[in-house]
Amino acid sequence: MKININEITKQLGLSRDFEYYGPFSIREIDVDLLVDFKAHLTHTGKGIILEGTIDTSIDLECARCLEIFSLPVHIDVFEEFMEKDRNIPTDEKEPDSGDVYYYYGDDIDVKDAIRQNILASLPMNPICSEDCRGICPQCGGNLNLEPCSCGAGFNLKEE
Ligand SMILES: [Zn+2]
Ligand SMILES: [Zn+2]
Repeated sequence: MKININEITKQLGLSRDFEYYGPFSIREIDVDLLVDFKAHLTHTGKGIILEGTIDTSIDLECARCLEIFSLPVHIDVFEEFMEKDRNIPTDEKEPDSGDVYYYYGDDIDVKDAIRQNILASLPMNPICSEDCRGICPQCGGNLNLEPCSCGAGFNLKEE
């Protein structure tokens, strides 16, 4: 997903807005999302600062009850893009931490930045609701639906 920055690199302090609303796939976690991405790009002289937001929702499996639920995600994005300097050897200009992105020429590719921001926002143990009662450790019944037939799960949630 490329944004043309030709107009704003002509002069310090120039900026432009960019919006994308549409499908976005993340292969690492095998999902196809619908994302709403808004960005404001400013030429700082050193590079391009991207400030924006990502709104989407991701289907995740609840760590407690194992049901699939849709998690709304809102991310505030702040990233820096540096122009690649051809005088520096290739292995020295790659960022260690991945917190700076590089670009050549008139376009910056924001796909990686969006992907990384979404991946970083995902909870380690997604929970469908703070009140999720999970499944009964004895019979495996979903305790959100009803107290399970074995009774063990019902007692568990009262503790
Ligand atoms: Zn749950
Ligand atoms: Zn049970």
